[in-house]
Amino acid sequence: MGSFPIEPATRIKTLPPYLFAAIDRMKQEAIAKGVDIINLGIGDPDLPTPSPIIDSLAQAAKNPKHHQYPSYEGMLAFRAAVADWYKRRFNVMLNPMDEVLTLIGSKEGIGHVPLAFVDSGDVVLVPSPGYPVYSVGTSFAGGVSYIMPLTKANGFLPDLGAIPKEIAQKAKLMWLNSPNNPTSVVMTKEYFKHVVEFAREHRIIVCHDAAYSEIYYDGTRPPSFLEVDGAKDVGVEFHSLSKTYNMTGWRIGFAVGNKEILAGLGKVKSNLDSGVFEAVQVAGTTALGLDDSVTDGIRTIYQERRDTLVPGLKRLGLEVDPPAAAFYVWVTVPRGYTSTSFTAHLLEKAGIVTTPGNGFGAPGEGYIRMTLCTPKERLAEAVERIRSVGF
Ligand SMILES: *Cc1c(COP(=O)(O)O)cnc(C)c1O
Repeated sequence: MGSFPIEPATRIKTLPPYLFAAIDRMKQEAIAKGVDIINLGIGDPDLPTPSPIIDSLAQAAKNPKHHQYPSYEGMLAFRAAVADWYKRRFNVMLNPMDEVLTLIGSKEGIGHVPLAFVDSGDVVLVPSPGYPVYSVGTSFAGGVSYIMPLTKANGFLPDLGAIPKEIAQKAKLMWLNSPNNPTSVVMTKEYFKHVVEFAREHRIIVCHDAAYSEIYYDGTRPPSFLEVDGAKDVGVEFHSLSKTYNMTGWRIGFAVGNKEILAGLGKVKSNLDSGVFEAVQVAGTTALGLDDSVTDGIRTIYQERRDTLVPGLKRLGLEVDPPAAAFYVWVTVPRGYTSTSFTAHLLEKAGIVTTPGNGFGAPGEGYIRMTLCTPKERLAEAVERIRSVGF
């Protein structure tokens, strides 16, 4: 018997280093010392899934017909519920037969779609700072990410005019994310119109990640990319039940829009996975049919949290804008700090976990991200701790 070196594939070895490892270690040390940690690092709702959704799952789970393999594209009833919800929420018409695809959480579809459309060496336009799956999925498919930096100067929106012509000509696919993680910035319909023109001119597939479309404030609802004329000719939109209904653990999402793009993604999926447990799809159908009062209740809680944390930080002299959507607060680090050193300061001195902005990509340097997935009393306590330790 003998061992041999287990050699990971290049695609694994070349993954970006895990930037949160140092923070994780400091967090574990603080916990071991008995520090009462306030975790503003996690982007995972702390609120429970609404009970009608849980009841629906419990009942559906008892039905043996749901115990077998689901169809890869998802139950027609769920896809029809998605189409109804799109009509109600965005006034966008979708054919549930071929313009809706069920996903095992939207991350699954985001990670897989490049396998359907990106060949080795193809260019993919990726916003940065951003959700890491856009660039990792690209590199797993052999593609090359071209970074679209999100900066204060461009309002944290990809500057399409700044993309060199030869890159635009070569690009196969473009990622967009509104409302945005980590900046919370929302794209307007006007912006989406420019995207459609740009995509049409350069024949670029648009993949819009709308995971946070239902977490919004002051009653201002973010638009869908598909509300814009011609959007369905060039792209698809990814959605998730995770954030809207506090269902991150359930693993259900969907993609909608261009049927050829969805068919390509579906082809990849049919060869890799076997769909979402039907009982979860039944519960997802229940979720999408719920009265708006349920999501209004969730939004009210986030809004109270935002209105506790953001004015509190401002009073301390930190530079921060109240988010119009999503549950992230994007804070400029004070003079003399970097993303990493300010994150370390807050953790070591105040017991507050945050995420360094550069963890979402180099253009995020100079910022930290705080989340609103913590009760408002704890957010008030966080502000008080920062006041007392200073910066
Ligand atoms: C949370 C999140 C998702 C959704 O994840 P699921 O896989 O649907 O749970 C997608 N995109 C972004 C930017 C997110 O933050």
